[in-house]
Amino acid sequence: MSSGTNILVTDDEIATLKTLSASLEDMGYRIATAVNGQEALALIRRQPFNIIIADIKLPDISGLEILETAKELNPETAVIMITGHASIETAVDAINEGAYAYIVKPVVMNELETIINNALREQRLLIENRELVESLQQSNKKLEEANKALEQVSRAKSDFMAKMSHELRTPLNSIIGFSEVLLSKRTSPIDQATHDEFFNYIHISAKHLLHLIDSILDLSKIESGKMTLESSEFDLAVLLEDVKVTVLPMLATKKQTLQIEIGDGISTILADEAKLKQIFLNLISNAHKFTLTKGKIKVICQLETPLLLHCSIIDNGIGISPQDQQRIFEEFGQVKTSPSVKGRGVGLGLSIAKRLVELHGGKIWVISEPGCGSTFTFSIPLAKKGST
Ligand code: ADP
Repeated sequence: MSSGTNILVTDDEIATLKTLSASLEDMGYRIATAVNGQEALALIRRQPFNIIIADIKLPDISGLEILETAKELNPETAVIMITGHASIETAVDAINEGAYAYIVKPVVMNELETIINNALREQRLLIENRELVESLQQSNKKLEEANKALEQVSRAKSDFMAKMSHELRTPLNSIIGFSEVLLSKRTSPIDQATHDEFFNYIHISAKHLLHLIDSILDLSKIESGKMTLESSEFDLAVLLEDVKVTVLPMLATKKQTLQIEIGDGISTILADEAKLKQIFLNLISNAHKFTLTKGKIKVICQLETPLLLHCSIIDNGIGISPQDQQRIFEEFGQVKTSPSVKGRGVGLGLSIAKRLVELHGGKIWVISEPGCGSTFTFSIPLAKKGST
């Protein structure tokens, strides 16, 4: 119990000093001694003591000064004053100033030992208490942070729900509106061309609705952790050829060109083929949507390091302002575009692409300037072949 306990004994009576320190050493305490106040103060300033036993009357300074300095430097130090009968009043003052106890000369070792044991027990309790308060404060801080994060998530969810309801309502209202007009044709007849046009609007809105619902389902699947990586080895060139065949009819509607460049050293890679395809499709269909007729779209894939694939989808379209670049990866983070941009999206393509890239352990970013086109780049670490 006593090991590691530092005690300073200060007394100008060499005999008392020697007996006291020898007895305390026998009890297993580490003892330092001082024969006057200045020596004691120098020792206190050099190292902390658990207990200081000091004669109240020293030749140079009062034991009260030692008490004051010791408490200033380390409030947990227990100072025990040794006093003669004549100085009991000063000893009582010392207790009022924060001394732990006083003991009257001649010192009875049993009495001193009990005082030391009590002081050490109280010290331990104090330390435990302080540690407990500190850990409680830390837990409280963590709890507060978790609460804040939860509030943020809940706000983000409500925000998402509000935006989603709005996005669902728009095509639904259009379907209901046009179908009501078509149904009321008996009361107010409409010509064949208008009839076909309204049917077409209904068809477009229904397709948009389906795309929106599919995207929301994809997103919720990713969010709930139900979407997992299914890596396999495949040829990136073959995948991009497949992507090209899929997007060419769409690009043809705006006479846009697509150029694909695959850097040296890339042949078969290990990744989730279907998800990689979806990332490319989302980014290329954006490039198509936000690039005018006869625009140029380029896909460049290269190895940044042997195990890090960088793919850029570059267009010479309308570009994105720096402020808008901050929010386009958020759900429904659409930007107000000029009326010349046709083909309303659902505002989920980039957030889905971002999640899919992140599922691969990768990153996605954009470099763009309004009027100067955009470059969307994603990087994904390639798993070592044969490691999954
Ligand atoms: P959307 O379905 O609207 O395309 P996305 O999440 O894919 O939704 O994109 C969010 C927004 O980011 C788009 O509405 C558009 O404003 C902007 N954006 C995305 N890609 C491009 C691009 N290649 N050029 C210009 N703007 C883009």
